[in-house]
Amino acid sequence: MSELKKPMAEANRVSSMLNLVLGTDRFPVKVNEVALEYSRQCFADSPVDKIQGEDLDGFEGMLAANKARSKWLIVYNSSISSAGRKRFTVAHEFGHYLLHRHQQDRFECGDDDIETGDGNERDIEIDADLFASTLLMPLDDFRRQVNGQPVSFDLLGHCADRYGVSLTAAALRWTEIADKRAILVASRDDHMLWAKSNHAAFKSGAYFATRKRTIEMPRGALAYSDNCSAASESQTTRAQAWFPREPLSMPLTEMTKVAAQYDYTLTLLLMPDAEWRQPQHDEEEPEEDTFDRFIRNGQHPVRK
Ligand SMILES: [Zn+2]
Repeated sequence: MSELKKPMAEANRVSSMLNLVLGTDRFPVKVNEVALEYSRQCFADSPVDKIQGEDLDGFEGMLAANKARSKWLIVYNSSISSAGRKRFTVAHEFGHYLLHRHQQDRFECGDDDIETGDGNERDIEIDADLFASTLLMPLDDFRRQVNGQPVSFDLLGHCADRYGVSLTAAALRWTEIADKRAILVASRDDHMLWAKSNHAAFKSGAYFATRKRTIEMPRGALAYSDNCSAASESQTTRAQAWFPREPLSMPLTEMTKVAAQYDYTLTLLLMPDAEWRQPQHDEEEPEEDTFDRFIRNGQHPVRK
């Protein structure tokens, strides 16, 4: 738990300062200015000196020190066209700067990092992601935005606009504060690209091991082929349609949205809390967090 707290604590420290200076209605976070100014004030002998776009072959972002380690450079891939992804990438690199710069003097973040973190070690990429989403979408403000409102992709779109992040990043953030089981699935051509369960869903066994095997979407899913005629729709169905081990009476609400910008469809699945704990006899290893960086960025991970 303490390892989890550090990225969040660092991000909250920055947020508190921004609240003091700018007030609480200050979004989206001007992450470039924040990284430059905050590091200059707090770490004057080795600040983030420059943030720039470059043609990074195969990398999404980079953090690098000069030889004397007296200044740091943040680079984002200049081919990133989405402002939300750019913002998330810079926030991620700023996270490496605050959390990990004493361990390394160069961080290259991209597709190759996906397969890391298979043991109990905490992965620094997960830390940097957690930092970035906490900085860009502070939970107190996020809760105020969604408080008491039924979740919908319209509401999540409002959050994405407010924080200047991708719809996917906002939807993932929402699942973290949901008071029920929530699973976000990205699909293309009737197959899952990735899926991410919130803690409650994961603990009850409601998750998809998309890294282990190819998983087809259920035939009845809104996102399956032509079932979904509009860009955004919802339906209530039986949880068993998605999770065969759920009891027959368990309802599931399904919402879907074509994320045209990323060439995939997002499906949000909501279920009441499980009344029992699913015994985990499966050979499938639980899958969690490893794809976060890419998913939050609004990217889909490259499969190997
Ligand atoms: Zn990284």
